[in-house]
Amino acid sequence: MKKTPLIAAITCGILLFACCGFFAYQCFSLSSRCQNLETEALKLKEDNSKLQEDNSELDTELADSSAQLKEKENYAAGQKEYISELSEQIDSLTNGEADDTENTDGSSENDNEANSSSEDDSDADSSSSSDSYPNLYAEGCSPEDTQKVVYLTFDDGPSNLTPQVLDLLDRYNAKATFFVVCKNNEEYEEYLSDIVERGHTLALHSYSHNYHEIYASKDAFLRDYEKVYDWVVENTGYTPSLFRFPGGSNNGSSYVVNDIIDEMEERGFQYFDWNVSSGDGSELTTTSNIIDNICSNVGNVENPVVLMHDGRGKNATLAALPSVLEYLSDHGYEFRSLDKNVETVHYR
Ligand SMILES: [Zn+2]
Repeated sequence: MKKTPLIAAITCGILLFACCGFFAYQCFSLSSRCQNLETEALKLKEDNSKLQEDNSELDTELADSSAQLKEKENYAAGQKEYISELSEQIDSLTNGEADDTENTDGSSENDNEANSSSEDDSDADSSSSSDSYPNLYAEGCSPEDTQKVVYLTFDDGPSNLTPQVLDLLDRYNAKATFFVVCKNNEEYEEYLSDIVERGHTLALHSYSHNYHEIYASKDAFLRDYEKVYDWVVENTGYTPSLFRFPGGSNNGSSYVVNDIIDEMEERGFQYFDWNVSSGDGSELTTTSNIIDNICSNVGNVENPVVLMHDGRGKNATLAALPSVLEYLSDHGYEFRSLDKNVETVHYR
């Protein structure tokens, strides 16, 4: 009978131990679960911030794209307007508003021509309608005296592009001036004679076109100049009297350039800078930039001397030339070559 409480006590002890063990196990498993959840939460937090970053990047890209889209839309709207202006012009021409357009050499293709087509017509009228009193003009006011003139100049040639430039000039009966650089290439040497034979002015630019070398001193410049001078005379028999400083007379080598100018003028040579730049000296300049730079600035100066290049790689200039010639001839300009009697354009 005494055994019963003992057994009961042992049983209770075992049960208590089992319970404690069970709770301890539960506690342990809960804490490890908590730890796992915390790790997952951290991971989710990281993912979330990464997603937010991606999201803001996408937002920026989206904003950029919409800005570009807007620019393109504006450009398209401009083009649409331009086309409708052209259509209006064509309509007015076909409706007989300009019966005498035969003298104006056809339609216009460039941007600013719409504004000045009436000018062209009046120019054509004054020259083509028979003037019963051709000599009755005050001095300096005859149509011949008031002829608008442009001087196109090409530096750094001759090159493989020169023959195409010459053909385009011929097409518009345009004369120009070529400031040449010496090239050891027989084919290019033939172009020197082509320039002279086709009525353009062959002028000198440099033998080496190396600023460091030619602007080291007056003698260094003259040595270089003599070489390109001899090269041209040997190949053409023509003796040039005009030259252009590489980089223009305002090239930074002030004292040397002043001395050179004095010396060269004493020797009878005349230099020309320019007052309209095509901007084709930079590789980044596009064909339409060149057209715009020339066509929108020629009218701003009295005696436009336009700087262009026909050296190797100046394909954008070659591509721009037909539009430039078309625009300027439509606007009444005559293309003449420079000579010693033309008023000089000097930076100093
Ligand atoms: Zn040059």
